[in-house]
Amino acid sequence: MQNTGTKKGSPGTRYMMILIGIALFLPPLAIIPQTAGEVNLCGSVCPRMFFILSPAGILEGFRNNMQAMWFGASLVGLILLTTFLMGRLWCSHLCPIGGTTELVSRGIPERLKTSFSFLHAPAFRYAYFIVFIAGMLAGIGGIACKLCNFRVVPFMAGSLFVPSYRTYLFSSVGLAGIATVSLTGFFARGGRGYCNLLCPVGALDSMVNYLSERLGFTRKVRTDLSKCNGCGKCIGECMVWALERSGNGKIKRDQASCMSCKECIHACPQEAIRYGRL
Ligand code: SF4
Ligand code: SF4
Repeated sequence: MQNTGTKKGSPGTRYMMILIGIALFLPPLAIIPQTAGEVNLCGSVCPRMFFILSPAGILEGFRNNMQAMWFGASLVGLILLTTFLMGRLWCSHLCPIGGTTELVSRGIPERLKTSFSFLHAPAFRYAYFIVFIAGMLAGIGGIACKLCNFRVVPFMAGSLFVPSYRTYLFSSVGLAGIATVSLTGFFARGGRGYCNLLCPVGALDSMVNYLSERLGFTRKVRTDLSKCNGCGKCIGECMVWALERSGNGKIKRDQASCMSCKECIHACPQEAIRYGRL
């Protein structure tokens, strides 16, 4: 394999990027939402709401939503373009929601956490994504908002400063949201269960990552099997259970789940994993 990759970037750099993402998108600073007149990731800056169709008809409803929620739609467009060219850097390095659940999860003892690795992540993710889209086509897509991490995590962060957020969090809907983010995030091994299984933006993003992986000019996390000795040290570092041993004892990556976090690159003693072009 031609070496066009790099090992640059430490886990510390990624955590720093996550903290920047939290400052940019979550209360109390919420710098990006405030530029669009919002106080958190709901409303026009929500990267999911533009999916939801109004009863006016599919095309007309989609157009109306794109006009009302252009900010969130543009954000998703930018995320997908970045993923196409450079891998899932939004999800692993900047997303304030997945970043928060991962950081909190790292502070919780492993014995208290649930592993979701028994689930086949791509099958579960796309099945849920189909249900999500079908719900929107049926006009009941707003139900997904009730359990949305993009709603509950900003409310949790803002509740330290805004009393009304605490009122929401202690309502039945708020408590259901806290239970969801706790089970699939804070108390999930790796902290990224929601990202890997339930996030609609993550589902779109993983499809783009998978489809663009074989194009020579796109930068992805790649494995050089001629260097891999099958030691398995990378497997335990992957928070989205995208790595496993294949029949020949070497490592196999599920590119549809890989979040381009590069943790496996730092873990590999053989330098068999790299980030770069084909
Ligand atoms: S395969 Fe490597 S880069 Fe991809 S999510 Fe797992 S640890 Fe991160
Ligand atoms: S850590 Fe490196 S050598 Fe060990 S199984 Fe993973 S890719 Fe192969």
